[in-house]
Amino acid sequence: MKTLIRDARVLTAGGELRASVGIDGGKIAFISGEIPKDFIPERTIEARGDILSPGFVNSHCHLPMTLLRGVADDLNLQKWLFEEIFPREDKLDGEMAAVGARATIAECLSSGITSVSDMYFFCEDIAKEVLTSGIKANLARGLTGYADGITRKTHKAFAEQEALLRDWHMADGGRIRADIAIHAEYTSSPALWRDAAEFAAEHGIVLQTHISETAHEHAECMDKYGKTPTELFLEAGVFASRVNAAHCVHVSDEDIHILASHGAAVTHCPVSNAKLASGIAPVEKMLKAGLHVALGTDGASSNNAICAFGEMKCAALVAKLRENNPVSLSAETTHALATAGGAYAQGREAECGRIAVGMDADLVLLDARRPCMIPLNSPYSALVYSADNTCVRMTMVRGRVLYENGELLTIDRERLFHDAERIRAYLA
Ligand SMILES: [Zn+2]
Repeated sequence: MKTLIRDARVLTAGGELRASVGIDGGKIAFISGEIPKDFIPERTIEARGDILSPGFVNSHCHLPMTLLRGVADDLNLQKWLFEEIFPREDKLDGEMAAVGARATIAECLSSGITSVSDMYFFCEDIAKEVLTSGIKANLARGLTGYADGITRKTHKAFAEQEALLRDWHMADGGRIRADIAIHAEYTSSPALWRDAAEFAAEHGIVLQTHISETAHEHAECMDKYGKTPTELFLEAGVFASRVNAAHCVHVSDEDIHILASHGAAVTHCPVSNAKLASGIAPVEKMLKAGLHVALGTDGASSNNAICAFGEMKCAALVAKLRENNPVSLSAETTHALATAGGAYAQGREAECGRIAVGMDADLVLLDARRPCMIPLNSPYSALVYSADNTCVRMTMVRGRVLYENGELLTIDRERLFHDAERIRAYLA
C-alpha cells in the first residue's frame, strides 16, 4: 500500500521541513518538496500545512491498569498500592485484563502514541489485543518473588515469561516484542535479578524495571543492602542488556553514571511521580551525563491519563521547577524524549522514533487549525506546551491508519465502553 501525506510541516531528525511524505510497504519512502513521478499513491492525505511528527512512544505503562483509573486518588504510594490497587488486581482475570489493555491502546492511539511498553501479567491476553489493534508494543511479565529456592525453572511467572517470548516475540514482523521485567528491587530477591539478567542476555531482549521511584523505597534498600538498587542490579548483571528503567527519581550521581555508561534508558514518568508526590527525576543531570531518557505515563491508576501531550508538558514544567531554571528541558528536547528517546528505550531505535527514509511509518498528523495551535510559530512549542488530544488528526503505525478524525479504526468503542463499565462495577 502506497500513501502520500501531502504538504506537511514534517518534524524530521534534522529539524522542521515543509514537505510531502511518501509511504510504501509501511516504511517512509521519501520526504520531499517534489513528489517522485513514479510514486502513484493509493491514498493521498492532504496535510494542508499540518504537523507531521514521529509517533509518540509511551515506554512505561501497565496496560490493564486503566480498569483502576479513578478508584483511589490522592493517597501516598504505599497506601495506594497495598490497600487499594493490589486487592483489586487480585480479582482480575485474563478477560478483564484484555479489556483494560484495549482501553489503554484506544487512549494511546487517540493521543498519537504509536508504541507502548507494558509490564504486567496476563501477557497472552494483552498480546492478542495488541495484535488486533495494530499498535506496536514491548510486552513483559512483571517478575516478583522472594521465596527461597525459586529459580528460573521453578518460578511460575518465569514460565509465563518463557511462553511470552516463545509465542509473541517478534510477532507480526517485530511489531510485538517480548521484553523481560524485574518488577522492582523491593519486590524480589537477588537470585531473581540474576536469573532475569541471564534470560535477557541469552535472548537479546530489553529488560524493564522500576528503579528508585520513592525516597522511602530507596532508603529501605540502603538500609537492607548498604547499596542502591542500581548498584545491586549492576552486581546482578542486569546492565549486560538494554535496560528500560522507569522513574529513577531518587538515583545518586553514581547511579546515573552506571545507567549512562551501560547504555540504559530511563523512562521518566513525571505525571505519576507528581501525583504520588514521589519527587522529580533529575532529567537535566541525566541528559548531561549522556543518559538516554524517554517518557512514560505509568499505569492509568496513578496518572490518570494516557496522554502524550500531558506527559510532555509536565516533563518540561517540572524540570524547570526542579532546576529553578526556565531554560531546562526545552520543547524540542522534550519532543525528542517522547519520540526517539522512547524508541531507544524499547530497543527500536533503528526502526522508529524519527522521520527518515527507510524508517517505519509510525506517524501522527496534528491539526494546526485547532484553537490551541493558532497561530503556529514553533511546532515543537505547540506540541509540548499547548496541544492536546483534540489536535490528533491521524495516528498511523507502519503505514496503517489506526485512528483518524476521532474514530478508532481497529477498536469497537461502544463495545469497549460496555465491557469496561461491567468490570468497573465488579471492581468498585
Ligand atoms: Zn510502573
